[in-house]
Amino acid sequence: MALKDIGEFGFIDRIKPGCLIRNRNVLRGIGDDCAVLRTSEGLVTLFTTDMLVDEVHFLLEKIPPYKLGRKSIAVNLSDIAAMGGTPTEALVSIAIPDSLEVGYLDALYQGMKSIAREFDLNVLGGDTSRAPANLVISVAMLGEAKEEEVLYRSGARPGDLIFTTGCLGSSAAGLDAVLEMRTYPGVEELVEAHYNPQPHVAAGRLIAGSKAAHALIDVSDGVAADLGHICMESGVGAVIDEEKIPTNSLFRAYCEHFHLDFRQLSLYQGEDYVLLGTVTEDAAPKIEQVLRSAGFQFLPIGTIVSGSGLRLKQSNGSVRQIAGRGWQHF
Ligand code: ADP
Ligand code: MG
Repeated sequence: MALKDIGEFGFIDRIKPGCLIRNRNVLRGIGDDCAVLRTSEGLVTLFTTDMLVDEVHFLLEKIPPYKLGRKSIAVNLSDIAAMGGTPTEALVSIAIPDSLEVGYLDALYQGMKSIAREFDLNVLGGDTSRAPANLVISVAMLGEAKEEEVLYRSGARPGDLIFTTGCLGSSAAGLDAVLEMRTYPGVEELVEAHYNPQPHVAAGRLIAGSKAAHALIDVSDGVAADLGHICMESGVGAVIDEEKIPTNSLFRAYCEHFHLDFRQLSLYQGEDYVLLGTVTEDAAPKIEQVLRSAGFQFLPIGTIVSGSGLRLKQSNGSVRQIAGRGWQHF
């Protein structure tokens, strides 16, 4: 059987049985943005890892090493944010092809250290290996949270409002600009969204601290895919309001200019690293207020419903089934 027959998530489901052999203090294993371990009364440790591989997640010839260093830490910070936690420690493992110069690696680590400092994150160690071909950077990260505040993918309930903490699609347009070597006024901002995403750690903390939200995830694979994960883990369905998918004007203008379908890009492409959450209609104003007062956005995009699967309510009022798909390896 080929890997593509089962896909990335079929693979994860397949290897899951037998992974957890001692569940004392394990509140969550495989199946969320982080594993969650009870460490002391009322406190949990969050544990996550994310890997960036040259030619799969980035193109070494295109992304400046400083930005690549930042991004390899940022994507892990985003998974801690998605649980409502505070990042604390990291390990960095790197497999380096012979062709890379020391100056490149210096810049890579300057990038990692700059974002680590911004988020008060220690780098406590890691591992270094030669790579036969492509650069691989793998980061493992710890964070902490109060047990009663942690937000899982599995908490969404029918009737919940679905919201994001920022706009979608800019990273996908930035990637398009890099790959197609397209220039456009302001395109640097889109490329920056792709190369240097800002993880919404403070927003995640505020949402968790409000104790008003039901579920949270970060948008790494695309909003359709990531909302699909929430639905799957919560045993619910969702309706996305097409008109409400949040995008900024530069992104829309870029898509229009190059005849790209901005709805496709904003729904199905990932790496925006904003947070996607669910909350009851009654509690929504509370979250909106705490987010807005800290400079984050609260952008409602749809509703959780009973049943399963994703539906898109289109501008003309019709509703159609859509796939919870997005970025997938294999
Ligand atoms: P995210 O996009 O938030 O990083 P993923 O979609 O990569 O999450 O992973 C989904 C879940 O599967 C997570 O709980 C992750 O820890 C787990 N997982 C992914 N790959 C593996 C693997 N090779 N072995 C064990 N667990 C894995
Ligand atoms: Mg995640």
